[in-house]
Amino acid sequence: SAESVLITQQSHEELFKVLRQNKQSVSEQQVVVVSISPQSRASLAARFGLSSSDAGRRLTSFFKSLGVHYVFDTSFSRNFSLLESQREFIQRFQRKEEDKKALPMLASACPGWICYAEKTHGEFILPYISTTRSPQQMMGSLVKNYFAEQQGLPPQRIYHVTVMPCYDKKLEASRPDFYLDEAETREVDCVITSGEVLKMLEEEGVSLNDVEAAPLDPLFSHVCGEEFLAHAGSGSGGYLHHIYTHAAKELFGEEVKELHYKTLKNKDFQEITLEKDGVVLLRFAVTNGFRNIQNLVQKLKRGKSPYDFVEVMACPSGCLNGGGQLKPQPEQSNKEVLQQVEELYQAERSSAPEEEARVSQLYHTWLQSVGEERARQLLHTQYHAVEKASNGLTIKW
Ligand code: SF4
Repeated sequence: SAESVLITQQSHEELFKVLRQNKQSVSEQQVVVVSISPQSRASLAARFGLSSSDAGRRLTSFFKSLGVHYVFDTSFSRNFSLLESQREFIQRFQRKEEDKKALPMLASACPGWICYAEKTHGEFILPYISTTRSPQQMMGSLVKNYFAEQQGLPPQRIYHVTVMPCYDKKLEASRPDFYLDEAETREVDCVITSGEVLKMLEEEGVSLNDVEAAPLDPLFSHVCGEEFLAHAGSGSGGYLHHIYTHAAKELFGEEVKELHYKTLKNKDFQEITLEKDGVVLLRFAVTNGFRNIQNLVQKLKRGKSPYDFVEVMACPSGCLNGGGQLKPQPEQSNKEVLQQVEELYQAERSSAPEEEARVSQLYHTWLQSVGEERARQLLHTQYHAVEKASNGLTIKW
């Protein structure tokens, strides 16, 4: 199928091939950039008994020893995803009276959920889905647009690889929406999973424990010195946390210090409400796993969804439990590994996206210089209903 072709095209073998070609022909070298997700760092850290930051420093060193030029961190681009989601939510909330599909806003960072929504619920569901790009595709914008320009390189001279907890991220990177027509290149050329990075280590005969940590590339990394920074909230990126605290303050002047979730049907369906004088001002939810997602969509279809925002993620327990993460060792259970990965992920100090000076600088310089419409394209995307032909084949992505 088209999906399996993509998975072979975007593999660690493909990355090895590009690195080999680079060694053979210096004149036609591609600048290789690897952007690592914090969920992948935590998964590899758990396997090698390291902290997440240490795993990040050692992975930087490993990739550079193979000939990779730059190693970045998708928590940096996630700052843009969180800030744009916050803004988008406020705008939707303010037009909710005249636009009945402005709310609930449904998070869009999970391609597993987006694929399902486009294929199964088409036109009905699309207006609810946030147009904000995921951290992977925000990084695509940063690397193939801003970084390329800064380096004086055409975007096609950069080979951009992301390391993700998830196979569906390969499909996301291949969406025509993220293809630069003029340069004939994708914003993210290749996605490899955390598990594929382990394969690369094994094929090279390297243990992360024996690799010397390297200094980080601070340009697009969410770091303080040599330590990585995180974002508060769920292991899927903390969308609910950030949008909720921001909206409470912006719309109702309420400072939220701590979030108290209520577990509904199961631990993968939780909600939180902001109330004042017995009136509910905001009602948000986190929905992980397809069973809960189907439940949510049914409610929406019946006009019975009480939510303003939902963080929707296809995997039970979210991205830390993604299909591309490392499998448990024979003596470990799934649950044990997940708990370990969650602890490592949550152990990093978190900072708010508003506090990242380099992000606001990029808003003021780069994004202002390209104009409003171009800035919108760089930070947002769109979705497409998939029609089914009479033979059952999909005729649109
Ligand atoms: Fe991928 Fe699962 Fe995260 Fe969705 S929830 S982005 S499918 S890892």
